[in-house]
Amino acid sequence: QTDEPILRVRNLGTGYGDLRVVWDVSFDVWPGRLTVLLGRNGAGKTTTLRAVSGLNKATAGSVELGGRDITKAAAHTRVRQGMAYVQEGKRVFHAQTVEQNLLLGGYTRRLKRTELRQEAERMYELFPVLGDKRSLLAGTMSGGQQQMLAIAQAMMAGPRLLMLDEPSGGLAPVIVNEVMERVGLLKETGIGILLVEQAVEASIAVADHVTVLDMGRVVLASAADDLDNLQDAYFGRT
Ligand code: ATP
Repeated sequence: QTDEPILRVRNLGTGYGDLRVVWDVSFDVWPGRLTVLLGRNGAGKTTTLRAVSGLNKATAGSVELGGRDITKAAAHTRVRQGMAYVQEGKRVFHAQTVEQNLLLGGYTRRLKRTELRQEAERMYELFPVLGDKRSLLAGTMSGGQQQMLAIAQAMMAGPRLLMLDEPSGGLAPVIVNEVMERVGLLKETGIGILLVEQAVEASIAVADHVTVLDMGRVVLASAADDLDNLQDAYFGRT
């Protein structure tokens, strides 16, 4: 474990035009670890991710990636500097095979064809179900498998920070657990992961740090281990 966060968000304020929806939000993501942003619908989780990725403008505060201030950098610059962002409801290319989808995910890297294929092989190790289905059209796979493909496709860009907005969306509970387990295993590659979720239990199970937003502000920040003692009541756990 290194002590330098890959992502450092400080006192972030953002919104849509003149409408401010996020105030004074601070949190970190470390290499090889996962930070989850929780909170009810409309709490500001997606808006926060959009500001971190550069799709929304930060109106206050700062965002640092690997120690470099990127608060004012364009979204595509952030991608080049190692951010990958899988937006909520991200669709894969249904009429392309699983492997074609993966190779497309790596196209911005200056890799030789053989290196790209090696990267795809690495994804098949991380997501074995994708390896089994590599020659099938992505559209023939289940929702959970397509979600894993979307994540693996983002990983093909070789990010230092992977941001996932509600990968559990629309999936059956048992599939949610499976997707979360796979997301948790991505930590072993050494990247930092920032996850936005509604699936509280399943995401805390793989998280190292938990930040809860409510009405656009941080209402709880904790190591995932300490959470039981802290806020069972908040999550309504029994
Ligand atoms: P959800 O899980 O529903 O996506 P969330 O925590 O991600 O919830 P946000 O989507 O960030 O919440 O929404 C935060 C606030 O910003 C809400 O009040 C929402 O109505 C508002 N909002 C979201 N998108 C826009 C937009 N494009 N224009 C204006 N307001 C928006």
